[in-house]
Amino acid sequence: MPHGKRAGERCVQLLPDMRCAIFDRPERPAVCANLRPLADICGLNRIEALSLLAAMEVATAPYAVVVLD
Ligand code: SF4
Repeated sequence: MPHGKRAGERCVQLLPDMRCAIFDRPERPAVCANLRPLADICGLNRIEALSLLAAMEVATAPYAVVVLD
């Protein structure tokens, strides 16, 4: 995504089964490759992770409206 990814925008590399299409490839962004899972961010499961992510999106959004998939 040469112009970046806005909050709530789906990554073009995200496959329908929620895997990364470029996971093992060098063109995977450094921010993704360097991200390490933490309980404070990921929770115990996908539902908790999405809830925590939504809270962070709201807390850091430049606008009052946040669009999530
Ligand atoms: S790991 Fe990065 S490049 Fe891959 S789908 Fe997620 S956001 Fe996109």
